[in-house]
Amino acid sequence: MKEKYLRQLSPVDEVMELPAIKDLTPRYPRAVVVSAVRSVINKLRETILATKKEDELRNISLEPDDLVPLVRELVKEIMSPSLKRVINATGVVVHTNLGRSILASSAVDAVLGAAGNYSNLEFNLVEGMRGSRHIHVENLLCSLTGTEAAMVVNNNAAAVLLALSTIAEGKEVIISRGQLVEIGGSFRIPDVMRQSGAILREVGTTNKTYLEDYRNAINEETALLLKVHTSNFRVVGFSAEVLLHDLVKLGKENDLYVMEDLGSGVLVDLSKYGLSHEPTVYESVKSGADVVTFSGDKLLGAPQAGIIVGKKELIDAMKKHPLARALRVDKMTLAGLEETLRLYLDPAKAVEKIPTLNMILVPQAELKRKAERLAKKIKEKTRGKFEVGVAEDISRVGGGALPLEELPTAVVVLSPKGLSASEFENKLRKSDPPIIVRVHEDRVLLDVRTIQLEEIGEIVGALAMLSSDM
Ligand SMILES: *Cc1c(COP(=O)(O)O)cnc(C)c1O
Repeated sequence: MKEKYLRQLSPVDEVMELPAIKDLTPRYPRAVVVSAVRSVINKLRETILATKKEDELRNISLEPDDLVPLVRELVKEIMSPSLKRVINATGVVVHTNLGRSILASSAVDAVLGAAGNYSNLEFNLVEGMRGSRHIHVENLLCSLTGTEAAMVVNNNAAAVLLALSTIAEGKEVIISRGQLVEIGGSFRIPDVMRQSGAILREVGTTNKTYLEDYRNAINEETALLLKVHTSNFRVVGFSAEVLLHDLVKLGKENDLYVMEDLGSGVLVDLSKYGLSHEPTVYESVKSGADVVTFSGDKLLGAPQAGIIVGKKELIDAMKKHPLARALRVDKMTLAGLEETLRLYLDPAKAVEKIPTLNMILVPQAELKRKAERLAKKIKEKTRGKFEVGVAEDISRVGGGALPLEELPTAVVVLSPKGLSASEFENKLRKSDPPIIVRVHEDRVLLDVRTIQLEEIGEIVGALAMLSSDM
């Protein structure tokens, strides 16, 4: 029965000869059009094969002319960039799915400069010989965190992998059961540990681990005491954790290294600005940890990177490890990171210029004014097609950082007439540039915390266009 329908499918050559398809070829590369035609035909073939009922098969349109809009759509999709700018109206500052941190404008300039020019990436300009890519950020990291040495790899997962491989391959690493965390996707401490060749020695319980638990697990195979910051959740209530300071003491007594995976790695004390205390890298170094690892693109607000700071002998060994080459950062990342770290030399400037910090710390009163301005413009341009209001709400830091922090914010509340909030969300997501929003109780919320000033006009324009089709 399916044969009949499959036979009706036009061959690629025939579709290519349709005038409407021929029209596409001067504008788009022929190879792209051919491949789109082939995909559309293959898709229809799959649909026919997957359809069980005869009356449903009859409803599939197989006329060559019916393929034209599908081909046109697909060609456009292939020709437009896959990685696009989006407007983040979710209020989640370090939004993992939307690219985590955005860079300070001077860091963006630094990235551009590194991308489009030759540089002294691995060239010592004073001596005229080969240099190290690490030095561009090492001194800065040392002065900002009080450490002896530093290096940077592709991300914090890579930093943990490299540190464990270097320090503890074939040896035991002691860690609290309460810290065997999963950080989204596929980063799970036990898996990274296995990959590094280190042997996991878990102690304590999910909610309580004492110094004694670590002490009792130490044996001649132990290489490292590891503390992992539970960055994306908190154990509250009946719980106990060993302080880094005490782990360091135990490490010293037993001649063992101590490492902390900090996750976010803030360089400024956020509690000074009214947020809950997130351990700073400086504090971990000061507590005596031999190695501290953290992400570049979480609360630090730099490009994606994994930063390793600590004792010189260990960092030197990591730089020489074969994995270092596989995990190394590229010049654009280094340029963006160096410039971001430079901003931290003056913390007041860091808070002002680094978007991640700035967006987290902006006062609610300012957000309210921004939301009111946006709401007024939307009302003016959408001719009563939406109910528009402003409300107080809560935004989140995101990126698995400060999971309990509730940032008081202001949102523009939109209820479109005759459209459900999820249909409306879908339309906004498909506009150009895509606008990503929150949906709550059948209303669309635009959290102005993460909306950049230049984007206000684009949002109003997109809503005006949608309202004219409604
Ligand atoms: C986020 C995080 C990681 C992974 O860092 P990436 O930079 O995303 O690779 C590892 N450990 C902790 C504790 C984290 O919070």
